[in-house]
Parts: sequence; C-alpha cells; structure tokens
Amino acid sequence: MNTFAVLKTENYDDETLYRAVKKHFEIHNIKDEIPQGAGVLLKPNLVTDKEAAFSVTTNPRFVYAVVRNLREIGVENISVADCPGGALLVFSQIQEVYEKTGYAFLSDSAYLNTDFTGVDVTSPDGFVNRKFNIVKAVAEADYIINLPKFKTHNLTGITAGVKNLFGTIPGLQKPAYHAKYPAVKDFSNMLVELAATVKADFTIVDAVDIMEGNGPTNGKKRYLGVTFSGKDVFTLDRFIVRTLGIPEENVPTITASKAKGFVAEEYLTAGDTDFVPEKPILLSELTRADTAGGKIAARISTLIDKVTDAVFMQYPQMNEKCIICKKCIVTCPQKALKISDKRVVLDRKKCIGCMCCDEVCPNGAVDIRKKLKTR
Ligand code: SF4
Ligand code: SF4
Repeated sequence: MNTFAVLKTENYDDETLYRAVKKHFEIHNIKDEIPQGAGVLLKPNLVTDKEAAFSVTTNPRFVYAVVRNLREIGVENISVADCPGGALLVFSQIQEVYEKTGYAFLSDSAYLNTDFTGVDVTSPDGFVNRKFNIVKAVAEADYIINLPKFKTHNLTGITAGVKNLFGTIPGLQKPAYHAKYPAVKDFSNMLVELAATVKADFTIVDAVDIMEGNGPTNGKKRYLGVTFSGKDVFTLDRFIVRTLGIPEENVPTITASKAKGFVAEEYLTAGDTDFVPEKPILLSELTRADTAGGKIAARISTLIDKVTDAVFMQYPQMNEKCIICKKCIVTCPQKALKISDKRVVLDRKKCIGCMCCDEVCPNGAVDIRKKLKTR
C-alpha cells in the first residue's frame, strides 16, 4: 500500500530543507529504489522567470536539498528540466530563466537542461491522447522526481503533482493544448493522461511558501511551512487537498484522476499528519473564492460554479502595468491578442479563456474578467 507524507518544514534554510528531504527519502525508501548508475531527472516548476521570493516557482534551495540527498545516496547523474510557459526555446532565454529564478548555482551539482527538443512517447491504451511529445531529457530519464510548487490555479483549482508535469511539453505546444481542449474537464483529462504517460517515480511538493488566490503566477504568496511526498502522483494530490481542507470537487484534475480509477481509496500516511493550515486556503476567484464552508457548501458551490461556467467565460484585460513585452501575444494559442495604438488589445471572439497570457505575463498586467457566453 502506498504511503503519503506531510512534514512540517519551517523555512528555506539549507539544513532545514536537507533534513526534510532526507526524511521524505527515508519514508519512501528512495535509496533502494533508484537503480545504480541511473540518470535522475528533477522536474521543478519554472513556469516563468520570477525569483523565488514571488512563490511562483519551486524554490531553488528546495531543489538543492534534493540534489544533496541524491548525492549522499550515491546518485551522480542528476539533471534539472522544466519548459517554462510561452515560446521559450532559445538557449539564451532558458539561461536567463535559470539566472532570474536563482537556479544557476545548481549547475555546480546538477546539469541544467537547455534542450527542449520533443520526442513522441506513446500513452497507455485507451487514452484520448494516444501519444505526447515531451522534452527529450524527461523521456530519456531513468528516474523522475517531480518537484512542484503548491499553488492555487485559475483553471485547474490547484497546481501540485499532476499539473506540474504539463511543463514536460515543449514550448508552444502547451498553449496549443489549451486551444485543443478549451473545456476545463477535457483539459484536466489531458493533464491526467500526460501524468500517466510521463510516470514520475516520486514527487515532493514545495509548500513552505505557497501561492493562493489568482495563481499560478499572479496570486498572493503565503507561508504554509510544509512539504508533501508520495510515489503515486494522483493520490498524492488528493492527500494534499484533504490535508489543506480544499474541497476536492473544486480540483478538476482530481475528478479526472478519479474517473480513470487512478486515485487509491486506501493508503498509509506518515510524518506530521496532524498538520492543519491556520486558515483556509483561498482558491482563485475563478474556481471558488471560499473553501471554509465544508462539504455541503462545497457541493452547493460546485453546482453554482457549474451553472456559472455554463453561462460565463473568462477573458483577460490588460492593465496599466503592461510593458508591451509581447510575451502574451506570442503565447496566445488563438492569436487573439495584438498591439494596437501602443497597447495590447484582445479580440474577444477568438479568445477561449485559457489564461495562458496571464501565466506568461512577467508584470501582473493581466486582469481576469467574466463575460456572458455567446457561443
Ligand atoms: S487572449 Fe489569453 S485567455 Fe484568450 S485565448 Fe489568448 S492566451 Fe488564452
Ligand atoms: S500583458 Fe504582460 S505579457 Fe502581455 S505585453 Fe503586457 S506585460 Fe507583456
């Protein structure tokens, strides 16, 4: 039976993180699981080039603690790979991401991937998506450790174990998936199929500082002081939301995982299992603004959300913080954005409300609005 762990992890000091990761490794017996000579790939969340203080990306000191623990158990071939949002595929751009996010120092102890060539990987039988084109370094790794940052998310309720693996898709293929699956349910099903195809061997979630509200890039940073771990990424996500008091009905990737029979009903727990957040986690206003009402309230709110979703759709509105960097224009899967009269303007008829523009915006210049559906 699988075990899922939650450990109080007070801060990002190297020794605190080292001890926490060591304990996670021990709980799951990672030392005996990684084959000798294996190439281990670490998959953090580097969605955009924000420094760690913004709580958008997986903290680099947390990744370093994983590297230290791997070295200690004899792993020498360690690489770090994530494909940020947008059209970033050029060597100098990814180097800039590593610099700005504070990851550059890791190059002393691990290889920082700069090759975003995709290779086709066949999915398990019966999936809607027969194959995925994923970053070569991920496809060729012997052992994958998934290192998400816990955040709330405008589209998928939360981003943790399952959603983090979307970063294994190269460059502009990511927004193309938003265009292909505009409905959250279908998009979430794709994410679950991708996670089952990538097959991360182990996941440790950075939830020391989290982002709540309008994540994944423009919410509010909040201290939580924990880390989570497990080998089964689907059940781990549900373990996390249950621990944090988030109604799982508000997380469509969990609904999709359950529909596929990927979420275990019985499992063991380890660590600081009495942990409860001091106050409820604030979800995005687009998924639910209040999670304190318990199960009945959650069901009612889910019903309201379903009605709301059937009638309204979200769209972006650029505010005065826009510096006209054009990242959103390049990323938009629908070509719904353009420069006009020295500002970014939206063609609402083309927009599918995927909010990729918000995800890549470096300046918090995208406000989220709702409009009546006309199609
Ligand atoms: S404008 Fe933004 S929300 Fe609309 S389709 Fe383009 S990226 Fe998605
Ligand atoms: S909205 Fe954001 S991403 Fe788009 S051009 Fe303005 S600053 Fe750049």
